[in-house]
Amino acid sequence: MTSGSIIYVDVSVKRGELIGIKRLTAMATVTLSVLFTACSREAEKSELTIYAMDTVMSLTVYGDDADRLTAQASARINELSSLWAAGDTGSEVGRLNNGEEVELSPETTELISFSLAMGTQTDGALDIRLYPLMKEWGFTTSEYNVPELNRLNELLDMRGDIHISGSTLALPQGTEIDLGAVAKGYTGDILYEMLSEAGVTSAILDLGGNIHVIGGKPDGTPWRLGIKDPRADGNIGVLELYDGAAVTSGDYERYFEDDGTRYCHILDPKTGRPAANGLCSVTVVGKEGRLCDALSTALFVMGSEDAERYWRSHNDFQMILIEIDGDILITEGLEHSFTLSDGTNSKVQIIRS
Ligand code: AMP
Ligand code: MG
Repeated sequence: MTSGSIIYVDVSVKRGELIGIKRLTAMATVTLSVLFTACSREAEKSELTIYAMDTVMSLTVYGDDADRLTAQASARINELSSLWAAGDTGSEVGRLNNGEEVELSPETTELISFSLAMGTQTDGALDIRLYPLMKEWGFTTSEYNVPELNRLNELLDMRGDIHISGSTLALPQGTEIDLGAVAKGYTGDILYEMLSEAGVTSAILDLGGNIHVIGGKPDGTPWRLGIKDPRADGNIGVLELYDGAAVTSGDYERYFEDDGTRYCHILDPKTGRPAANGLCSVTVVGKEGRLCDALSTALFVMGSEDAERYWRSHNDFQMILIEIDGDILITEGLEHSFTLSDGTNSKVQIIRS
């Protein structure tokens, strides 16, 4: 199970004390009604915690009909999850990996097409064809193993080009995919659209550390998200977010240690080894969850310098990079929405265009 990297922090809950979603969830996984002071009428709040896509997800929706909408959102998550579970022989991705020609759902077609485009755009840092390597390292079973160099090269060489046109797809022989780097971000976009269309103007969807928010909190103020300290309990800082997505990739989410070396679940497609380019956490903030998710993984692979370069040549996202030595780099668009936690000694540098 992965641990969430960003947690929803609600300071209004109790006496100014920071309370993370996990504790909130423990306190109340059932629907609660709260009084909206902003509009002085009772409005519904619905909270639901589910386990899907290998992680814990918490949905909090405000407004009339919130209960029904959270249930609908949860059903939709399960539906999408059953399309993309790479290890499930019945899922669309599982069948592709089994060498079958598959009639794809529109969602899978879109997600694979998007991932391939992002692969090109990130110069190969995002590569959905690493499933055989994920298996070899043991990340799919938690039976970890450090593979021989030859074996890694052999598996990297087996990747074939994927061409997607129309709705059926067969993968080149030996190629197996895994949409783990983008699936939760795209799911967030689908839920965002679904809930917005149903009239929701205030919601927070925590899809295992991929956070998607609709509007602000019911009182109109931004949501406050805790950015996890990659090397200690608690948050390194708090990010305020109003309407959009914030997605973190970190080397502490899923990893193993062998002989004093940490091996994390994000692989560098150039080497087939866990990415080790100086970063331990990357948070990407933007409008679209799928973009944030794809980039959090890809920028983690690239390392600070290339990530900075990438940011300068694209102006559709902001980011927070935490380096292994503890330094924090923040792009200028987040300068006023990120606050370092008290007692954190990290040096913060603002990246300007
Ligand atoms: P994320 O937590 O979004 O960074 O995604 C990490 C997951 O994506 C891993 O658990 C793998 O399933 C998969 N993955 C690992 N490395 C890569 C990569 N370089 N490109 C695409 N997917 C990857
Ligand atoms: Mg990702």
